[in-house]
Order: sequence, then structure tokens, then C-alpha cells
Amino acid sequence: MKVKCPECGAEFDVPDDVIVGEVVTCPDCGLELEVAKIEAGNVELKPVQVAGEDWGE
Ligand SMILES: [Zn+2]
Repeated sequence: MKVKCPECGAEFDVPDDVIVGEVVTCPDCGLELEVAKIEAGNVELKPVQVAGEDWGE
């Protein structure tokens, strides 16, 4: 199945048996994405919120 990275727009493949909650990594920008929804062959991704990384202040 093909997915599109919401960050950089790159298209890449995920396994056909991917499940909701699985984390995939964009090969282009390295962003970690969680499978949020699988619907009629379309995979919806959302960025993984990495806890414990406070770079802000
Ligand atoms: Zn990307």
C-alpha cells in the first residue's frame, strides 16, 4: 500500500498487512508516522508525538 508523508510529501510503501497503531518511518525525511486509519486500501498517517524530548526551552 502506498502512503504519503504529511511532512515532506514523499510517497512510500507500507506492508499490505500493516495495522492501525503501527509506526512507520518516512524514508525521505525520517519522520515517524503512526497508522491512524485504514480504509478501503487507503492508509491515514499521523505524526508520532515523541514524549520526553523537550528542545524548546
Ligand atoms: Zn517525509
